Amino acid sequence: MRLVTFRKTKGNDRAPCLGVIPDGRSEVVQISGRYLRAPGSMLALIAGGAEALRVVRMNTPHLPARYHLAEVELLAPIPVPPRNILCIGKNYREHVGEVRFIEPSDGDPQPAEPPAHPMVFTKATTAVIGPGAQIPAYLDDTDSTDYEGELAVVIGKGGRGIAPADAMTHVFGYTIVNDVTARRLQKRHGQWFLGKSLDGYCPMGPAIVTADEIPDPTVLKVRTRVNGELRQEGCVADLIFDIPTLIATLSRGMTLQPGDVIATGTPAGVGMGFDPPRFLRSGDEVKITIEPIGTLRNPVG
Ligand code: MG
Repeated sequence: MRLVTFRKTKGNDRAPCLGVIPDGRSEVVQISGRYLRAPGSMLALIAGGAEALRVVRMNTPHLPARYHLAEVELLAPIPVPPRNILCIGKNYREHVGEVRFIEPSDGDPQPAEPPAHPMVFTKATTAVIGPGAQIPAYLDDTDSTDYEGELAVVIGKGGRGIAPADAMTHVFGYTIVNDVTARRLQKRHGQWFLGKSLDGYCPMGPAIVTADEIPDPTVLKVRTRVNGELRQEGCVADLIFDIPTLIATLSRGMTLQPGDVIATGTPAGVGMGFDPPRFLRSGDEVKITIEPIGTLRNPVG
């Protein structure tokens, strides 16, 4: 199922709603509210487990509240995540090689080795924005805002000490995250959190595709375009640490919760990797495509 969180653009009801986009249709079926004794938000649906998904799947064809996609605004599938977005750094080999210093005074790039263990950082929940929303690069007074197209895993069943062999049974579905980064803030403050947590620096969406429709995520391709120019093209099969390893690593001593989002890392081709760097500017447009999830498009402000 293709699940979305949306807001109607007509009428007075602007509350976020849970919806399903049926295959091949350009309409959203509203799942929340009075039509169904089912969860009214993505987080509630995720927390409801297999039974909630079954109820939604069974009832969707019969629900009367349908809106053309032109009549709704898609929001981030999880507009307010329960906690920070969990992110993995340097998880594609070619990207490790392109991470370079961005000031002339930094000297020559050092030879980069792939990390021996997954590098984990987080992004603030207040950074999350939906498809079509503006990335406010004007908030970065260091003028070094960069894109990172990434496959994101949404956790369904929580747990601690999840074995790699069981990890995929904890995946609710998949979405796209743009791990937007202010590079000079990332570097200046040592810890990556600040440079990756500016408001609007975590576009997410356009949908969550449930795990049953993506039985093997390693076949997925991540493509990022800036103003139509292809900048990143990676295959999830090339992750240094695969999804089961990431889930096992994160949950070893920390309980993963339903609705946790794990951004799995970005392939080569970020703006920082060019010489000179090609950072985002006001008026640019970033599109990240991972089929069958769709395209996450955001203008830059
Ligand atoms: Mg990243």
